[in-house]
Amino acid sequence: MLDIQDRKYANEITAANEGERVSIAGWVHEKRDLGGVFFLVVRDISGFAQVTLIRKKTEKELFERVKRVPRESVVAIQGRVKSEQKAPNGYEIVPERMEVLSEASQVLPLDTTGKVGAELDTRLDARFMDLRTERTKHIFIIRSHVLKAIRDFLDERGFIELNTPKIVSAATEGGTALFPISYFEREAFLNQSPQLYKQMLMASGFDRVYEIAPIFRAEEHDTTKHLNEATSIDIEVAFVDHEYVMTLLEELVAFVYSKVADYPGLAKLNSNLEVPKTPFRRITYDEAIELLSGVGEEIEWGEDFSTSAEHTLGKIIDELYFITDWPSAIKPFYAQPAAGGTCNAFDLMHPRVELSSGSQRVHSYELLKQQIESKGLSADNFEFYLDAFRYGMPPHAGWGLGAERLLMCMLGIGNIREVVLFPRDRRRLVP
Ligand code: ATP
Ligand code: MG
Repeated sequence: MLDIQDRKYANEITAANEGERVSIAGWVHEKRDLGGVFFLVVRDISGFAQVTLIRKKTEKELFERVKRVPRESVVAIQGRVKSEQKAPNGYEIVPERMEVLSEASQVLPLDTTGKVGAELDTRLDARFMDLRTERTKHIFIIRSHVLKAIRDFLDERGFIELNTPKIVSAATEGGTALFPISYFEREAFLNQSPQLYKQMLMASGFDRVYEIAPIFRAEEHDTTKHLNEATSIDIEVAFVDHEYVMTLLEELVAFVYSKVADYPGLAKLNSNLEVPKTPFRRITYDEAIELLSGVGEEIEWGEDFSTSAEHTLGKIIDELYFITDWPSAIKPFYAQPAAGGTCNAFDLMHPRVELSSGSQRVHSYELLKQQIESKGLSADNFEFYLDAFRYGMPPHAGWGLGAERLLMCMLGIGNIREVVLFPRDRRRLVP
C-alpha cells in the first residue's frame, strides 16, 4: 500500500524536485495515448500532475494497467520527478507504482475536462462530479472566500454572529410564501427571514448582530434569480438609522468584490469583475419612476418595480445603486414611516437584480402595532415580537443581503442555481 497520507499535492512539486521520489493521489482527469508514449493527467484540489509512461522503458504490467484505468478513477501513484517544460507546473512524474483506490464506472455522467459542455440540469443531477470541473470548483472556493470576507468585515466592526430559529410559528411579513411543516401536533413554518428575531435582539443590548443562514421561500415561480432555499446575510444595528447601514452595506460589498478580484482562480470563470467605487449612486423611488417614464415605461406611484422595470433601470444606470424613499405601502410594516407616505427603506440594486433590502425600523411599540394592523395582519400573532418593544427598544436599522444574488452578479453567472451546491427550486428536491 502506498503511503498516501504523505502524498504531495500537484502544486507542491516543481522541476526543482527533479529526481526525487514522490507520491501523488487524485482523480484520473485525462488519458492520452500517443502510441509509444502514454500520458495520464492526475487531478487533485491544487491542480494537475502529468504522469508520463514510455512504452519501451516502463514495466509492461504497469503500462497496461495505467492504460486501462477508467477516467475519474481515484489513483495513487509513486514515481520520480522529471522536469518537463510542457507539462503543468513544469514537471512530469515517471511512475514506478500505481494503486487504484476506487475504480470509476466507464460511462461518466459528465465530462470533467470541460471540453464537452453539459446542460445545467445534467450538471446539478451529478453535482458531485460537476464540482470536479475547474469552473465549478472555483465558484465554490470563491463562495467560501466571500462568506469569510463578510465575517471578517463585520467581526472587525464589532458585530456578533448569532443564530435564530428556522422553525417558527408566524410569518415574518404575513406573506403567503411560506413552507408549512408539521411540528408535533401543531403547524409551524420554515422561516422566510430572520427579520423578527434579529430585531428582537436589538432589545438585548448586543447592538450589532449578524446572521448568515438559510431562508425559505415557497415562491412557485421558476426564475434564474429565485431559490426556494437561499442564504441570507442579515445584519441589525442599534442606535443608527438607514443611512448608516447603507454605508456599511456599500463598503461591505466593495470589500467583498476586492477580495474576489484578488483570487487567482477567478480567471477560470471569465468574469470581468470590476471593483465598484463607493459611495454607490442613490436614487429615490420617485426618481426611478421618472427615469422609467423617460423611456416610456410608466409606473404608478405606489407600485413595485417589475423585473422588466428593474432591467430597464439597470440598463440606464449601469452600476450598483440604491433606490431609497419607498412608498410605505410596498414595504414591510417594520420600515420606519417618513414624509409623504414614504418610509426609510432602501434596496441595493445590481443592474441585473435586487441584491439587498433594508430600512430604518419602527422601534415604537404603539406605531409598530398600528403598522402591523394597517397591513391587515393580526397583532396577536406577533405578540412574541411586539413584547421586545415594550421594555426598552433602541432605534435600529438593518438589511438582508442574498449571498447567492451577490455571487451570481459578481461572477457574471446567468443562473442563481449555479452558485448553490444543491439548489432547491420548484422541481428540484434531489440531490
Ligand atoms: P425579489 O423581489 O427580488 O424576489 P424580495 O424583495 O422578495 O426579492 P427580500 O425579502 O427583500 O427579497 O430579501 C432580502 C434579500 O434576500 C433579497 O434582496 C435577495 O438578495 C435575497 N432573496 C430573497 N428572496 C430570495 C430568493 N427566493 N432566492 C434568492 N435570494 C433571495
Ligand atoms: Mg426586497
